[in-house]
Amino acid sequence: MSRTILVRYDEIGTKGKNRAWFEDLLVRNIVRGLGPDCAARKFRGRIELTVGGDMTEMAAILALIPGISSFSPAQKLPIDASWEDIERAALPLADRAIAEGRTVFRTTVTRSNKKYPSTSIELQKRLAASVLKARDGRFTVSMTRPDFTLEMEIDGDAIYLFSQRIAGTLGLPVGCAGEMLTLLSGGIDSPVAAYLMMRRGARSHYISFHSPPYTTEESMRKLHDLAATLRRFQGEGSRLYIVPFIDLQLLVRARAIESYRTILFRRLMFRLAEHIALRDGYKALVTGESLSQVASQTIENITAIGDAVRTLPVLRPLIAYEKQETIAVARRIGTFDISIRPCPDSCTAFLPRNPATRGKLDLVHAQEEKLLPDIDPLIEAALAGTVMTDV
Ligand code: ATP
Ligand code: MG
Repeated sequence: MSRTILVRYDEIGTKGKNRAWFEDLLVRNIVRGLGPDCAARKFRGRIELTVGGDMTEMAAILALIPGISSFSPAQKLPIDASWEDIERAALPLADRAIAEGRTVFRTTVTRSNKKYPSTSIELQKRLAASVLKARDGRFTVSMTRPDFTLEMEIDGDAIYLFSQRIAGTLGLPVGCAGEMLTLLSGGIDSPVAAYLMMRRGARSHYISFHSPPYTTEESMRKLHDLAATLRRFQGEGSRLYIVPFIDLQLLVRARAIESYRTILFRRLMFRLAEHIALRDGYKALVTGESLSQVASQTIENITAIGDAVRTLPVLRPLIAYEKQETIAVARRIGTFDISIRPCPDSCTAFLPRNPATRGKLDLVHAQEEKLLPDIDPLIEAALAGTVMTDV
């Protein structure tokens, strides 16, 4: 059976001349995010979805698709529906409220179709009277403090009845801010960083650095699963770049002072990521870095690492997040359980015993001098060996 969902959006309503473009982007993301059982149509500043499949699952995805302010599963009736039809559609909504213990109600009616024979006020009263009569004694009416609102909207060619407004995640439709490259480690933070950037309109692609045999097939599966989970919220799929990193790490380990290893590894990651981003047209790099969280994320080390990027902005949406806040988002978007699967990432290989917490730029540059000239062919080889898959 197909059902109807009314989708509302806020922020894109303010985008003036580009409004239609934003709306079309949102419609496309929703249709692709919900899959083949979903059809959409724009009307009067809203989107009407006709969906098959499991409503709970669809609602969970819709609540996380950027650009949606709220949505309502609705009963849709033809504009010439009889009052009995309207009652028949309204009563199950009332019964569900009773089952949930919500019994103080009100009705609201909006009527954009001015040809419809009754006014909003008349309809509001009539709908309330119908429910009260049919479910005698089980409801009281309060216009000011209801715990259940039965809503009716009368449009050009249809009548909608609904009783829920489920909050969306707000933000902007994915794609309106272009495409970005997220450094994806397999930890908890970077998938959340990608999602937060999606909420501001950026479509995410991913790059990850691998050090076989220290990193395994299982690490790859994890990255695919993370990207596939995030895909539902941005509609379109992503590219995932896997960069072989071990030879660069071996050179750093052989030549540079141990306490600077992590900084030097991260600088190489940034350098390679920027190269690929510039080559393939991504507008920024995104990381899951958070100030002071670990040794590599002191302000000094964020500076020392960020210095390796020449042109593109590095966006760090989690910079001021508490770990618990990040975990809460990770649970909500479904990446947490994937991220905590135990499996090594490339920075756990060759971890220094005492990592520098205040990396000094001149010392960093001096270490990199020591990698010359051998580093250049290894960078070329890493780029040549990078494998790109569509997820
Ligand atoms: P995460 O939970 O995302 O792994 P973290 O708290 O473990 O983050 P770090 O390990 O210091 O922090 O990594 C900081 C950021 O650097 C990550 O969020 C990610 O964006 C990037 N990063 C680290 N390791 C890798 C890797 N092997 N491949 C790609 N990006 C990485
Ligand atoms: Mg990590």
